[in-house]
Formats: sequence, C-alpha cells, structure tokens
Amino acid sequence: MRRKLVAANWKMHGSSALTATLLGALVAEPPPCEVVVFPPFPYLPQAVQLAFGAVGVGAQDLSAHVQGAYTGEVSAAMLHDVGARWVLVGHSERRQYHHESEVLIAAKLQRALENALTPVLCVGETLDEHERGNTERVIASQLQTPLQVLGSRLAGVVIAYEPIWAIGTGRTASAAQVQAVHAFMRSQLAAHDAKLSRLIRLLYGGSVKAANAPELFAQPDVDGGLVGGASLLAEEFLAICVAA
Ligand code: PGA
Repeated sequence: MRRKLVAANWKMHGSSALTATLLGALVAEPPPCEVVVFPPFPYLPQAVQLAFGAVGVGAQDLSAHVQGAYTGEVSAAMLHDVGARWVLVGHSERRQYHHESEVLIAAKLQRALENALTPVLCVGETLDEHERGNTERVIASQLQTPLQVLGSRLAGVVIAYEPIWAIGTGRTASAAQVQAVHAFMRSQLAAHDAKLSRLIRLLYGGSVKAANAPELFAQPDVDGGLVGGASLLAEEFLAICVAA
C-alpha cells in the first residue's frame, strides 16, 4: 500500500550537462517505482522541464520565512512556482554545517506543506551516538518537534533515516539495523497516530548502491531510499530504482 520511492540527492554536484544526462536517462527508461531528483537550486527549472512529469523534482533546502529581506534564501512559494513539488528538510549536512535546530526544521516542514511541497525530513544519529547505543533516543528526539508542531499533518511528509556514519562513507547500515530503526520510527509515530504510522513512507539513506539496494528495500518497513553519491551515475541509479 506504500509505493516505493527512490530519491536522488545530488548535493552540491552537477551542471546543466549532468542534469540533461541524468534526467534523460530516467525519462528514457521509466523505473518501476516513484523517483524524485533533488538537484542544486539553479538546475531546478531545467530538471522540471526535462522530467516531463515522469520524475518528481525537489530542492535540497528552503527558507523557513515566507518572504522578505532574507538575502540568499529561497522560499517554498518560489520552489513551487518553478515546478518543484518536493524538498529535503533537515539533512544532516544542513544540521551540522548550518546549525539547523529542531524548531527551524519544523518551521521549514510547515512552510513546505503550506505550499504544496512534499518534504523529505531527514533524521539520523552520529557515529558516536550509534556506538554509545543512543540511536533510538536521538531518532525519537528528532521526531518529537515535527510531531508536536504538525500532528497528523505529518502524513504529508516522507521521513528518511540517514545514519550520519553511513553517509558518503561506503559503510552502509545492515538491512537488519535499518529495519530495526524503521520499525522503531513506526512505533514512535503509532503512539501519536496509528494510521499515520501505517501510511507514512520511510526511506533509508547512507551509501545506498545497486549492490545493497535489493536487500535494504526488501525490509518490511523500508519504503525506498535517499541516494547521494550513487545518484550521480545514471546506470547505477537506474539499477537502484529497479531494485525498488
Ligand atoms: P550517500 O548520501 O548516498 O552518498 O551516502 C546520502 C545522503 O546524504 O542523502
């Protein structure tokens, strides 16, 4: 009942040429699952144009402000205006390098939903938190503010579990580890809203590749993936989509 979703986080990589290559490959061979690409801001209109509605397009961040004197910020309404329908919120690189707080992240989720953008809320623990056995505590606290602020509107959100120690490191969490955290997230959500917990899509991200995608995506509580590095290689990314 939950459709598999594979999302491509290009981070600060790419060019017009790469946008054309990757979208061209995805549109030529439509994958069996839902696919969304998250290019850097300047390539969004080009990606929307080349996606022909067959692939979703989203931004990697948005402003928590509606509009005004906020130099360098991009609003949810602007993203929607250029055809984006998705947005990443609270990626660990934004939390770490831009000191995004739980309150800011919840405000960004609100702005996205108000403007008909589907946010992909990223959560995940550091290596230190993982090794100390604090994964569940960290995830629970990262879900708490969005749940308080949004309540059952969280049904309009996709959540991506991305253990920081697995991002860009080649060290993927095992399928069993991922399933355990996803089941824990569903139990946390179920405590607020049982229906929400059944319907919400939970993605895994962190060194997803064509080789490990089938086992990860076969877990009962894993509804797809958020792919970084491997999403910049057309063939590899298509193979990941096929695994979903
Ligand atoms: P990775 O990145 O696939 O390169 O590990 C995932 C992410 O940060 O979304």
